[in-house]
Amino acid sequence: MKPIQLVDLLGQYNKIKDEIDKAVLDVVGSSAYIMGPEMKQFETELANYLNAKHVIGCANGTDALQIALMALDLQPGDEVITPSFTYIATAEVIALLHLKSVFVDVDPETFTVTPEAIEKAISPNTKAIIPVHLYGQCADMEPILEIAKKHNLAVIEDTAQAIGAEYTFSDGSSRKAGTMGDFGCTSFFPSKNLGAFGDGGAIFTNNDELNKKVRMIANHGQKRKYYHDVIGVNSRLDSIQAAVLRIKLKHLDEYAAARNHAADFYDEKLANISDISVPKRSEKSTHVFHQYSLKLNGMERDAFQEELKAKGIPSNVYYPLPIHLQKGFEKADCRKEDLSVTEDLMQHVISLPMHTELTEDQLQYITDTVTEFAKKNVSVSQPV
Ligand SMILES: *Cc1c(COP(=O)(O)O)cnc(C)c1O
Repeated sequence: MKPIQLVDLLGQYNKIKDEIDKAVLDVVGSSAYIMGPEMKQFETELANYLNAKHVIGCANGTDALQIALMALDLQPGDEVITPSFTYIATAEVIALLHLKSVFVDVDPETFTVTPEAIEKAISPNTKAIIPVHLYGQCADMEPILEIAKKHNLAVIEDTAQAIGAEYTFSDGSSRKAGTMGDFGCTSFFPSKNLGAFGDGGAIFTNNDELNKKVRMIANHGQKRKYYHDVIGVNSRLDSIQAAVLRIKLKHLDEYAAARNHAADFYDEKLANISDISVPKRSEKSTHVFHQYSLKLNGMERDAFQEELKAKGIPSNVYYPLPIHLQKGFEKADCRKEDLSVTEDLMQHVISLPMHTELTEDQLQYITDTVTEFAKKNVSVSQPV
């Protein structure tokens, strides 16, 4: 059996090496390194894949969120509702722009922000919501969009972990993650589901005006070179990354299928262990399994992780400390709503290896090891 990795970027690359190497070298030979044709083509191809009107490439997922927020012309102190159970970037950009983060709780089973928590947190100063499609499935967008409409709030979907996931509305129509709100923001960080060979990100929008605004902000606030209408940033997706992403985009659905295969395997072998909750799949969204995250009920997480490590199985905790408890946020302008689920999850979640290259024998070994450990571990929650 090959050594098990948490993610296997090299294994994935090796399968498409010839195509990738040629594309990268073609860019090198073209000398169109920034804003070249590869980026335009990638933007168009991703827009087609997502059925989104506009895709704007940028330097990374954090920038995507920041630029989308900048395009809303908010004022210092305006409130932005977001989960605390997410990667720091989601709220970092709110703080950077001197806006106020309002942290709300997530669903204990799907791990995504709940419409109820959002609605409860709305104040006269609320201007926007950033739902996060955490671990690879969409937050419950239909009610979230209704709340946003009712209160005239902008919606920025953080879809850094869920590119390609699809949400179905009650009328039977469906939309891809990141194309339901005013903006979708994604990351092409190498380990993301659509990963570049360096940093990259993109903003999606179906709104022509917002598209123009975002393009201007991402390019130093200029429409015409050296004429700067607004204060912008320098955030670009370079041509080499775009060339890599164009190739990987063609495989994205196949990659999601490989991740789902691994998730199904885990589910089947682990669902009946009473001390473990396997991740719940939303009834309304497909799952692209950026992470496969267990919730441990009667087990010590450290001991569990140590045991896995001793048996050669890497694992990780996303995230051990929610944003509202981070030191860096002590002085940030924020409001904390009820975050009891978040504070419980931070102590009990753990993610198993999840990538496109997991083999049957690796999956069998991982699930056997987890099952063995669970048997040895006399549950504290089970009656004797
Ligand atoms: C990765 C990630 C980001 C940030 O993306 P970068 O490209 O690393 O800047 C933002 N939000 C979430 C939920 C992420 O997982």
